[in-house]
Amino acid sequence: MTCRVVMCCLLAFAPSTLAAQAQPVPQTNAKPGWQWTMDSVNKVVNAVRAGRSLQPKAWPNGARVAVLISFDVDNETVALRYGDPTVGSLSQTQYGARVGLQRVVDLLDAHKIPATFFIPSVSLDLTPSMAGVIKKSGRHEIGVHGWIHEMNSTLPDSIERRLLKKAIAELTAATGTKPVGYRAPSWNFSDNTLSILRDLGFRYESSLMADDRPYELNQNGKPTGLVEIPVEWILDDAPLFDPRGDRYSPPRDVAQVWIDEFDRAYQEGTMLVLTMHPHISGHRSRIVALEQLIAHIEAKAPGKVWWATHGQAAEYVRKQSGLGEPVVP
Ligand SMILES: [Zn+2]
Repeated sequence: MTCRVVMCCLLAFAPSTLAAQAQPVPQTNAKPGWQWTMDSVNKVVNAVRAGRSLQPKAWPNGARVAVLISFDVDNETVALRYGDPTVGSLSQTQYGARVGLQRVVDLLDAHKIPATFFIPSVSLDLTPSMAGVIKKSGRHEIGVHGWIHEMNSTLPDSIERRLLKKAIAELTAATGTKPVGYRAPSWNFSDNTLSILRDLGFRYESSLMADDRPYELNQNGKPTGLVEIPVEWILDDAPLFDPRGDRYSPPRDVAQVWIDEFDRAYQEGTMLVLTMHPHISGHRSRIVALEQLIAHIEAKAPGKVWWATHGQAAEYVRKQSGLGEPVVP
């Protein structure tokens, strides 16, 4: 409290310099970290933590790098999830279903590039024809992205579990295949998320950020047999493509970030995991970023890239590392 009072006073005197440096003070009743014991620190940190690296010695077919493209097919669910959608926000996000998805699938299919589409079940229910668009090439994977893009990290176990079960059942019915991969709608976990994923039989997870390489998730210090395909906000189109946000970047600048990420992944022999959204990257001026990335990769490393779905990559690294099956809790 004292700090906050002091900071307010300082801001009053020198707003231009301090505002840029000030870290936001979270509004929370939690005991601050400096009052914790090391036992408490370890317990919290180890609840869900990166375990051993699953980076393989080599990628399939002599490839030097793996490139995993994913689309989070949120569409209207991002407007619906808080329960107060507006007509404008619904129309803006419906663009993903009406226009964006077909455009990105056309691009991927023209280059024979597989991708993983993480879909909130409600999104597919609102536009069932999306399943056919995605499945047409037989190359793409469909994974779980919540039921209505719910903020899973804020929900009690019973509700988070019920929604996830419902999402799995509905996606399985709509696509004919039971999904094996999960991406959290908020790219975050509640205290129960990992246990729920393990109970429901997921084989891989793709929402966390502890490495550039695949790794095993540990729970309370113990290996789970669950593969993590890590993401990063750097490699997500949403934060940088919001024309009303304060971090807007032109698509061609964003493409350069992705190209630099690819170049280093290629050099290190690891992998590039890129997340996009049909309602964002599916726009005419933004699809350019993905087109530029693909053109760069195809020119720089012909025959040296393993394009794969997240599920294919997870199973490959599982086998190569001798990980075995997910451990039943
Ligand atoms: Zn999403």
